Amino acid sequence: MRVLITGGAGFLGSHLADHFLAQGHKVIVIDNLLTGSLDNIAHLFQNPGFSFIKADVTNYIHVPGKLDAVLHFASPASPIDYAHFPIPTLKVGALGTHKALGLAKDKGAVFMLASTSEVYGDPLVNPQPESYWGNVNPIGPRGVYDEAKRFAEAMTMAYHRFHGIPVRIVRIFNTYGPRMRRNDGRAVPNFITQALKGRPLTVYGRGTQTRSLCYVSDLVRGIALLLASDINAPVNIGNPHELTVAQLARIIIRLTGSRSRVARQPLPADDPQVRRPDIRQARAALGWKPEVALEDGLRRTIDYFKSA
Ligand code: UDP
Repeated sequence: MRVLITGGAGFLGSHLADHFLAQGHKVIVIDNLLTGSLDNIAHLFQNPGFSFIKADVTNYIHVPGKLDAVLHFASPASPIDYAHFPIPTLKVGALGTHKALGLAKDKGAVFMLASTSEVYGDPLVNPQPESYWGNVNPIGPRGVYDEAKRFAEAMTMAYHRFHGIPVRIVRIFNTYGPRMRRNDGRAVPNFITQALKGRPLTVYGRGTQTRSLCYVSDLVRGIALLLASDINAPVNIGNPHELTVAQLARIIIRLTGSRSRVARQPLPADDPQVRRPDIRQARAALGWKPEVALEDGLRRTIDYFKSA
């Protein structure tokens, strides 16, 4: 296959690029490097199957030659990133998805959208099945991401229904691992960086809010299986192991052997109180389930942050 990955210099996009190159496919990465980094793909430039285009996918995308798959993974993806870049976040989810769909249609390629558990907002149902419509505040600080991704899903389904193009929609739950940015503001990189520096771990609110963390290699395997399937509807990919943010902080303090303490800070607006994927669809239709236990994945991530 010849696979285009938008956002391929980011955390998930670069792991996908590694995966498809290792499978013998050709990979083209498009990234504007707003939150992505060439460091994530520097090791790929010597691979003859790899190419890189620095471009903003909210503008017209020109890619010469055939394409078999277009994976639209470009977007700021952490709450502080979308607070810094609210309009680029809306544009890449809306205009960028439209351009990437147009390219897939033109090339006869399968299109995959990186969607998110944020489409469920602050969910009133736990765990969240794909059939849940969500509880999103459109005008809150997270609305720029949540509504962009909800629009992107609607646009993707419209291209599928109206133009008949094959589409995949992966609803990605919290994922962690090497190549997360130290300063991207999310819980895992914040807590690991703080623990390694002996600084207090900043737990927001009472720390009773929950998340369910998936190690990046499990996510990549699920995405590859979904791409190879014929499922044109959204599929949750995530690890159902749910824990509170306070528990996560304590585990990271223990695994790093840190003397850090926990320091509470105010809870950000609209921070979801619970989040856990219902993965019955992925299990049944893809035969997928996560395999990396939380502490193993965290150890690998801590090693990365120590060496990076
Ligand atoms: N969080 C925290 N301290 C931090 C960073 C995040 O307590 O330094 C909390 C945040 O309020 C949320 C959870 O950890 O409840 C996960 O936040 P993250 O930004 O990783 O992802 P998201 O909110 O998008 O799930």
